[in-house]
Amino acid sequence: MTAPRLEIDLEKIHHNARTLVNRLRGRGISVTGVTKAVLGAPEIAAALIRAGVWALGDSRIENIRTLREARITAPIMLIRSPMLSQVEQVVAQADISVNTELDVVRGLSHAALAARRTHGIVLMVELGDLREGIMPGDLEPFVQAILDFPNIALRGIGTNLACRSGVAPDARNMAELSALADSIDATFGHRLRPRLGSSAGFGLEIVSGGNSANLEWALSGADTGRINHLRLGEAILLGCEPLHRRPIDGLYTDAFTLIAEVIETKVKPSEPWGDIGQTAFGEMPPRATNRIFDPTAERPRTTQTILALGRQDTDADGLLPPAGMDILGASSDHLIVDSGCLRLSVGAEIRFQLNYSALVRAMTSPFIAQVMKAASSLTRVPALTY
Ligand SMILES: *Cc1c(COP(=O)(O)O)cnc(C)c1O
Repeated sequence: MTAPRLEIDLEKIHHNARTLVNRLRGRGISVTGVTKAVLGAPEIAAALIRAGVWALGDSRIENIRTLREARITAPIMLIRSPMLSQVEQVVAQADISVNTELDVVRGLSHAALAARRTHGIVLMVELGDLREGIMPGDLEPFVQAILDFPNIALRGIGTNLACRSGVAPDARNMAELSALADSIDATFGHRLRPRLGSSAGFGLEIVSGGNSANLEWALSGADTGRINHLRLGEAILLGCEPLHRRPIDGLYTDAFTLIAEVIETKVKPSEPWGDIGQTAFGEMPPRATNRIFDPTAERPRTTQTILALGRQDTDADGLLPPAGMDILGASSDHLIVDSGCLRLSVGAEIRFQLNYSALVRAMTSPFIAQVMKAASSLTRVPALTY
């Protein structure tokens, strides 16, 4: 089989998504399954839909187009503010987009009018992480302005935490989002749509509390208030929560495996020799060095193995090697490991688990093949039709 390659276990992803969907349903929260880390892979999207997600979400219009070209008809949310230059594509491919700029919503309105569609809007609110979002005090005038835009439906508000600054979702910021939803309903509710599953009349349908970093809060038993939606990527794909990167109970953390092939294996001194400058990526090597190599000197040696995988393919710092093996370093095309007492022959394959950063880059590398594994019970389900 070709190497390097990513093995993707669709049944494990399906299990993770279904488990989270069920746990959150009990808390009144629906899930948008986020596919940006897997570039909108239709097989993975299909597994999420079978698991009961309410919608799919992606940050890139290109990935959303991939989903649509695979004839996926589920609701899709663009979870990054649209580029003004892409409003026509956004309206054509996505049902909902998150927004923070009036000019963009105006552009979406023009595009939606021209396409004879209605485009849904979720307004993102800044609650402290300092990434995207309208400042809370500016939200009501913003809502006031967009309610008059033709072919635009205000469907909800949301926030995103724990990304740029690591601000944790908690009772305080989630209560603030709930309070904002209440006040928008009180002021503008009569001009909004019926609230889903609610006898409370008209108002915001979606109050989206955040991403995988919200799970600890959402499942803690805390009052969820008006929060009825989360956008989940990492927790579903890697089975871990991103605040402390702890595995989530009952989920698989090994749905993705990166496999690389050995191209050299030799016993070598464990320290370099010669004059030392910067490495290929501009770092200074931390270890002391011996200027001259003396083959007779007693020095520590390691069994150093090189794999055909590099920083052009993945984030070497985000790879977890098998037990007994350590990653020593990486350049663009070489991953160097200390294989301990194992003597791996050329051609052998080594399997790594990946963190989010390594996964995103491995999915994006044109040099890494992707192999989707479906359990026999799932292979009957056609991947691309619904
Ligand atoms: C990436 C992203 C998500 C999903 O984040 P995970 O940590 O992978 O769950 C949700 N919302 C927004 C706005 C995002 O950019």
